[in-house]
Amino acid sequence: MASHEQVVQADPAVIKGLDNYRNLVAAQQPTWPDLSQLEQVRQTLAKYPPLVFAGEVDILKDRIAQAASGKAFLLQGGDCAETFADATADRIRNRVKTLLQMAVVLTYGASMPVIKMGRMAGQFAKPRSSDTETREELTLPAYRGDAVNGYDFTLESRTPDPTRLLQAYNTSASTLNLIRAFTMGGFADLRSVHEWNKGFTDNPANSRYEIMAREIDRAIKFMAACGANFSELRTTEFYTSHEGLLFDYERPMTRIDSRTGTPYDTSAHFIWIGERTRQLDGAHVDFLARVRNPLGVKLGPSTSVDDVLALIEKLDPTREPGRLTFITRMGTGKIREALPKLVEAVRDSGAQPLWITDPMHGNGITTKNGYKSRRFDDVMDEVRGFFEVHRDLGTFPGGVHVELTGDDVAECLGGSEHIDENTLESRYESLCDPRLNHSQSLELAFLVAEELATR
Ligand code: PEP
Ligand code: MN
Repeated sequence: MASHEQVVQADPAVIKGLDNYRNLVAAQQPTWPDLSQLEQVRQTLAKYPPLVFAGEVDILKDRIAQAASGKAFLLQGGDCAETFADATADRIRNRVKTLLQMAVVLTYGASMPVIKMGRMAGQFAKPRSSDTETREELTLPAYRGDAVNGYDFTLESRTPDPTRLLQAYNTSASTLNLIRAFTMGGFADLRSVHEWNKGFTDNPANSRYEIMAREIDRAIKFMAACGANFSELRTTEFYTSHEGLLFDYERPMTRIDSRTGTPYDTSAHFIWIGERTRQLDGAHVDFLARVRNPLGVKLGPSTSVDDVLALIEKLDPTREPGRLTFITRMGTGKIREALPKLVEAVRDSGAQPLWITDPMHGNGITTKNGYKSRRFDDVMDEVRGFFEVHRDLGTFPGGVHVELTGDDVAECLGGSEHIDENTLESRYESLCDPRLNHSQSLELAFLVAEELATR
């Protein structure tokens, strides 16, 4: 006879405490007007296929472990905020090309494997310093990224809309599909190094790149003539990343992997926690501590040694190689003072996270004509400071994190094209922070390659 007793299957998500964040303070979340609609969206998202596969995430963790031990370098870049409107083939291709070119400069210049990672296919949510924005008499919710609300300054557009989370998923999926096509389908073949430079306006960094590309071509032809097999040159690994900010997106995208029974946030390979959401007892640290992805944490100039050691304890209690990356964003005037004590304390604790520099977020300025900008010289100087600090301490400066675009914008001041405040008026497109354009990105890559080669 069949038993009437019910066998209650324990829900693995409950065992893993994935909803524990709900009991904690979650900074920077939108105020959704319609919670039942939000719940429907969350259920829909939870049924959509994962965007990345746990096996890929594990490979990335191995790659980052290599970088943390000084044998590889991480290049992470892309928009401050991706937008739905700009998820076009041309713009995605330009960003991928720019990252591939930077990676070639770094690989060739420093003779070191480079891990390529986009701030792409998911970077649709932004933390803001204020919940609201006021223009003249009108106060409206701040723009929190296309996953939450629209940029237009009207009540309708600024009201958070949960269906945008679905559009964020779909736009991430199509962006990732194109990235995979480009990087696996022949476009990233190292024998096309010249091709990647085409279509960009002429500039000194471009020309310098051309010279290097010719040398690479000669080296490849030489190796081919020697009978070398080039299957490794045909495709390249390319990983995605974004700030893990919105629980209403990241939680439904987190799945229990059937091979290992452990949770992975399948919205991207790598997730980072921002400077504004890394509170030790906050919801973001608790939630992301429970997923298996490699994690980043942004560290600003006021970070204390205690904060860093406690973050390691929470996010990487077993000191798993490749698990944790610290992304320092100190500002050019502060890095040489603020960074050494952190790196030293971590080194002495025996932990081995990857250290990378974000030379963008500590160097924001507002120009006289009202643009959020950054001086290219400050960006370059923070990179130099980062290398100096690690050189002095005998630790490895393992990567760069930059906001960039392949498009011909003028958002950061200076560089070899000498972009000035007036030029910003004609070619400023970012809805959020200013990005390096194609030429500035290449220039930065040449500097980093030199620093790495002479380390
Ligand atoms: C960002 O990366 O766009 C950002 C908001 O950074 P941070 O958390 O370092 O301020
Ligand atoms: Mn930014």
